[in-house]
Formats: sequence, structure tokens, C-alpha cells
Amino acid sequence: MITLLENLSYPEVEEYLKKKDIILVPTGSVEQHSPYGLIGTDFIVAEAVARRVAEAMHILVAPTVKYGVSPHHMAFRGTVSLTPDTMIMLISDIIESLVAHGFRRIVFVNGHGGNISSIKIAMERLKARMFEGCFEVVSWYEMEEVQRLCKSIFTGQEGYHATPGEVSITRYLRPEAFKTKPVHELQVANPKFYWPLTCEEMKRVFPDGRMESAPWLATADYGRKILEEACRAIQKKIEEIMLLKVL
Ligand SMILES: [Zn+2]
Repeated sequence: MITLLENLSYPEVEEYLKKKDIILVPTGSVEQHSPYGLIGTDFIVAEAVARRVAEAMHILVAPTVKYGVSPHHMAFRGTVSLTPDTMIMLISDIIESLVAHGFRRIVFVNGHGGNISSIKIAMERLKARMFEGCFEVVSWYEMEEVQRLCKSIFTGQEGYHATPGEVSITRYLRPEAFKTKPVHELQVANPKFYWPLTCEEMKRVFPDGRMESAPWLATADYGRKILEEACRAIQKKIEEIMLLKVL
């Protein structure tokens, strides 16, 4: 079965909707991930997880929302950020379109923490406007099994941004991109800070763009293991969502 929405025709979508009402939507960001990681890290990983799970479960996955809410990374070159307002509108329009066609379970498979509040606001607003269906956001890096695995591999040096876990997955998926990235070790600092930060505050407290992480520990082999664990955990979550009775 073709699981990418972008590769279907509309009669094929009609056929799918006779049997299933679920669709996954990967969400990520286009933001700096320190000198060690790729600017596309968050959407590359979310897309890989969502597409692999969709394939395994014979369900549809929509095109990836690559841009996300990343204003705090704007002091680093290459970051392209949406405002929360834009993200709320974008997510609302995606859900509205999918609901109009008969999808009733819309699951955002997310790779970027900065997106979560906007996605949830969009869902709450649609519910207030009487949109029926089950709308969920699941972040691969928040799954308990994934956190346990990363903790056991990176022993307290996983951190919060440009983590060796996510960098490992991109090393596995895009090895050619790492030929030009550094691998030397730096210090892992744990400064006290508040949240949210402006991009200038962010650069003052985390001058090289990492947040308490050691991305030089990343390897493609760890990446394969973490990606597999993330897919297992997300699949389990999707199976639970598919068992819910949509009212
Ligand atoms: Zn990231």
C-alpha cells in the first residue's frame, strides 16, 4: 500500500477513507542545532519516524510541516522560524482540510518542543468551534522508552537541544552531511536560566547553540537504535489512538 498522501490520487484517498480514518502529520523545525548538527534535524527525524510507522501500520502520512516555532534560535544563522500565530493558523488549516475529507484521527508526529503549545492551541480552538474528531500530538523524543535508551547511552549528557540522540539519528539518515561537521569535545555546562528566552538571551546563555548536550557523542549506529525505539514507541501510541472510539 502507498502510505504517502502525496503519492496518492483522490480516488485512492476515497478508498482509504472507506476503511480507515487516521492520518499522521510530521512536524519539525528549521533551526540551528549547534555546529555539530543539521539545521533540518527536527523535521528529518519526525518525518523518518512518521513515515516508517505509517509504512508498518498501512496508514497514511501527510507531507511534513518542516518549519516550526523557533524564534529563540534566530541569533544563529540559517534558522527560519514561524511565529506562534502562523503555526496555530497553519495547523488549524491542515486539521480543517483533513476533517472536511473525513479523517477523524489526526496525529501530529512532532520533533520540536517549540511547536507543542501552538499545535495544542490550534486543536483547542477547533474544538471550541465544534470540530469533531480525535486530534493528538506525540513527540518522539518525549516517549519514555526513547528517553530511557538515550539516558543509558549518553549518561546524563543528552541535554535539551542539539542532543546526541537526535544528532545520532541524522548521522544514520544523512551520513554525507556529516563529512563537514566537527567532532571535537566541548564543555557541557548546566547554567541556570528561565524560559522562554529571546534569541539574544539564548545566545548569551548557550553561546554555541547547544543546551546542556554533548552532540559529539552521536554515531550512526546509536542513531539506528534510537530511531527503531522511537518508531516502536510511536507505533504503540498510534495503536492506542486507533482503539479509541471517536465520538
Ligand atoms: Zn532538535
